[in-house]
Amino acid sequence: MGQGQSCIRYSPEVNFFRAVQFADLEAVEFSLTNDPAILNRTTFYDRCSAFHIAASNGHLELLSMILGRSVNPDLLNRHKQTPLMLAAIHGKIECVQKLIEAGANILKFDSVNGRTCLHYAAYYGNSDCLQTILSAAQSTTVADSWGFARFVNVSDGSGATPLHLAARQGHRSCVRILLNNGALVCALTARYGCPGSSPLHLAARGGSMDCVRELLSWGADRLQKDSSGRIPYFVALKRKHGACAALLNPGSAEPLVWPSPLKFISELNADAKALLEEALVDANRAREKNILKGTAYSFASPVHPEAERNEDYDDDDDEYASEVNEYELCCICFDQACTIEVQECGHQMCAHCTLALCCHNRPNPTTSCQSAPVCPFCRSNIARLVAAKSSSNPGKARRSRNFTEASSSFKGLPTAMATIGKLGSRGSERIANSSDMLDKP
Ligand SMILES: [Zn+2]
Ligand SMILES: [Zn+2]
Repeated sequence: MGQGQSCIRYSPEVNFFRAVQFADLEAVEFSLTNDPAILNRTTFYDRCSAFHIAASNGHLELLSMILGRSVNPDLLNRHKQTPLMLAAIHGKIECVQKLIEAGANILKFDSVNGRTCLHYAAYYGNSDCLQTILSAAQSTTVADSWGFARFVNVSDGSGATPLHLAARQGHRSCVRILLNNGALVCALTARYGCPGSSPLHLAARGGSMDCVRELLSWGADRLQKDSSGRIPYFVALKRKHGACAALLNPGSAEPLVWPSPLKFISELNADAKALLEEALVDANRAREKNILKGTAYSFASPVHPEAERNEDYDDDDDEYASEVNEYELCCICFDQACTIEVQECGHQMCAHCTLALCCHNRPNPTTSCQSAPVCPFCRSNIARLVAAKSSSNPGKARRSRNFTEASSSFKGLPTAMATIGKLGSRGSERIANSSDMLDKP
C-alpha cells in the first residue's frame, strides 16, 4: 500500500491509505478534509483506490462514506478489477450488497483472467456473494441487455464459466446455486484446465465427491470426452481420486437425475421440492454405497455431517417409527410413508416413488419438452405436487384413498421405480426429519 515509498512528499497519502486499511474513519475524514482529491489516488503497485481497499477488507462503514462522496462505483485498479470484484473475492457480502445497491456494474471483466464478479465469487466459494450477484442479475438491466442465462454462463478469458471454476475448486454450494440458476452442466472450456473440459472433468480433477454428486444428479455426462479424449473417470484416476473415479466409472450404476428443471421444478411447491431433494440425495447415496462397497473408499466424506448422521441412525429406525405412522403407507412401494400429494386428484405417494415417476436417467436434449408426468393412480396429468399433510389420528390405521386403485396402476411406472424402492430403504428417518422441518413456520 505504498509503504515502500520513502519520499516524505507522499506521507499524507501513505497515512491516508493506512487509515483506509485499518478503517480509521476519523483519520480518513481528516485526510479528506485536507485534500478531497485524495480519493482518486491509488496505491503504487496495484493502483487500488481507497474504494478497492475498503471493499476487499469488508469495511462497510468506510465504503458507505466513500460512496456518499459520489465516487464511481466501478473504479478500476491495475488489473481492471472493480471494488465489487474484490469484495466477491474476499467474501465480503455486506460490501457486495452495498456496491450493487449503489449501482456497481456486475458485467465488468477484469484484465487478469477476463473474469466477472460472478466468476470470482464462484472460484473462491463465496456462495452468499454468488447468490446476491445472481439475484441482482435477475432484477437489473443485465437480464434485459444480456439475458440472465447468458450472464450465468459467461466465459472468462480461458473459456471457463463460473460453474467450471466452482467445480474445479470443489465448492459444492456454489455448484448447486449455479445449476439452480440455469448454469449449463455440459459447457466445455476453451483452454481452462485441459481444453474441452466439462464441469464434471474439473470436479474429477479437483477430487470433490460433493461436486461430482451434484453434477451427476443434474445430468452431467460421464462419457463426455475432453479434447484429449479423456472422460472424467480417467481424469479422477490420474489424479488418484479413487472414490470420485468409482462414481464416474461408466460401468457403475447410473445416478438418478432431477426431472427437467425448466418444465417441472418451477411448478413445485417448496415443501414438496425439499422432500424430493431429500429422496434424491438418499437414493443416490444408497447407490454410492453400493458402488463403493468393497472398495477402499469410505462412503461418508468427513465434511458431510448429514452423511455421518445417517450412518449413526442406521440401526435406530424404531425411534422414528411412531412419527412415520402419522402418514399413510405408500401404496406403490409399501415401504415408505406418503409425504407427497398430487394435485388436483389428491392421490398420495412417498417421495421416492414420486421421484421415480418424474425422473429420467439423463435429460435428453432432443426431447427436452417432455410431457408432464401422470398420476399412477388415476392417470391424470400432474399439475402440481405438494407436501402431504400427516394424519391427525396417528394411532389408527387409515384406509388409504389410493389403496383400491393401486394394484391396477403399477405397470405404468418407469422401471427406475424398482431400483428406487430398493435403494431408498433407509428413507424412513429422512422423512421423519422432513416432517419436523415442515412443522416450522
Ligand atoms: Zn412409495
Ligand atoms: Zn391421481
